[in-house]
Amino acid sequence: MKYISTRGSAPALNFEDVLLTGLAPDGGLYVPEVLPRFTHEQIASWAGLSYTDLAFNVMYPFVEGSIPENDFREMLRDTYEGSFSHKAVAPLAQLGRNEWVMELFHGPTLAFKDFALQLLGRLLDYVLEKRNEHVVILGATSGDTGSAAIEGCKRCKNVDIFILHPHNRVSDVQRKQMTTIKGDNIHNLAVEGNFDDCQQMVKESFGDQSFLEGKSRLVAVNSINWARIMAQIVYYFHASLELGGPHRSVSFSVPTGNFGDIFAGYLARNMGLPINQLVVATNSNDILHRFISENKYSPDTLHHTLSPSMDIMVSSNFERLLFDLHGRDGKALAELMESLKTEAVSIDDHRWKAARTLFDSHAVDDEQTCQAIKDVFDESEELLDPHTAIGVVAARECRRDASTPMVTLATAHPVKFPEAVEKSGVDVSPELPHHMADLFDREESYTVIENSLGAVQSYVKAHGNHNKSL
Ligand SMILES: *Cc1c(COP(=O)(O)O)cnc(C)c1O
Repeated sequence: MKYISTRGSAPALNFEDVLLTGLAPDGGLYVPEVLPRFTHEQIASWAGLSYTDLAFNVMYPFVEGSIPENDFREMLRDTYEGSFSHKAVAPLAQLGRNEWVMELFHGPTLAFKDFALQLLGRLLDYVLEKRNEHVVILGATSGDTGSAAIEGCKRCKNVDIFILHPHNRVSDVQRKQMTTIKGDNIHNLAVEGNFDDCQQMVKESFGDQSFLEGKSRLVAVNSINWARIMAQIVYYFHASLELGGPHRSVSFSVPTGNFGDIFAGYLARNMGLPINQLVVATNSNDILHRFISENKYSPDTLHHTLSPSMDIMVSSNFERLLFDLHGRDGKALAELMESLKTEAVSIDDHRWKAARTLFDSHAVDDEQTCQAIKDVFDESEELLDPHTAIGVVAARECRRDASTPMVTLATAHPVKFPEAVEKSGVDVSPELPHHMADLFDREESYTVIENSLGAVQSYVKAHGNHNKSL
């Protein structure tokens, strides 16, 4: 399998190289050159498989040529049978008639990002060991990504991981989840600035990696990394098969920020899974909702909401969809992305209408989010986190057809976002799962660092194990 850039002028890469990079050198994102496609009969024959076996069938075509079958199987078994606390890995819970949530929060950090980052860590370990190489993971987080990345990569021998978070601006649970994981390759930096400052420093470091003096290279763990998208395709197949697919279609509503998770659903459909409708659910940061409903893509200011993991101004993975909508014409896309920097953009009407056959969207504010947490709890005693609650509201608002099962992706456990749950007025407080009940007693380790690129880069250079091995 080869991977090409959405902007058309970077060399194609194989899976290993795409795993070990960030953006393409032309500024684009990598996508498979040709998407694997499964027949109805093939998909039907997967009914009843374990999550691991299903994951193998869905993902193997993407890694073929880089990883032998047995090694990949073992990696998947270790990931989905070793690190998730629910036997079903991604269990479905019913809310109403033909209405479901898929619980993607049974991994070690209680959010869906574990599905991809637990696998990513194992993939990196495998590939780096084989090549005898070392990399530095550098990422910024406003909460969920950091802990999931650290949990996923803590055992990687050839990886140093540096995660920047804004000092005093992430929730206690989120900070504890990052800073209580032990390992001499784990470095938590609390930057005396905001999330944008952190992100900007990461971006600049990727742009010019000379501060590492050639001793290592940077790998991205945000959702521009193709391997993350790949791992998320699996659970769309899983939900469908549990609900009678592929003999019937299923619809999904996805709490959306950077468009990574829902893009995986779009790919599942293009790989042959009958999906009727994909609902883009946003909070007040509604750039995607404005595009889907009005064909206008224009960044707004950032709003801080009760669903912080979806607080974004632009959605990086959206470029991957735009690429397909433009007939995979890299040159056209490069021009479009260039004009996006300075102005609001609309695409050709027929392209937008093509997207609308599959996608609907809805934006949900904080008040509606809290109301939904309360309503759903009263209806079914299912306690939703604020991101999932937004998904459920959008699903109910946009649903085209009551006879098609509608599945909302439950992207986080409610204990991660107690503020929204409290404000909703439900009479229960979410509790930490048993296996992490002692989180607040665990010892934390992090370094407060000034808000300056020079300080961060010197720290990375001085503290990586890449120094010791050379
Ligand atoms: C990351 C995240 C999202 C957004 O996912 P994208 O792939 O960025 O669209 C939604 N909910 C939660 C809880 C998250 O952590």
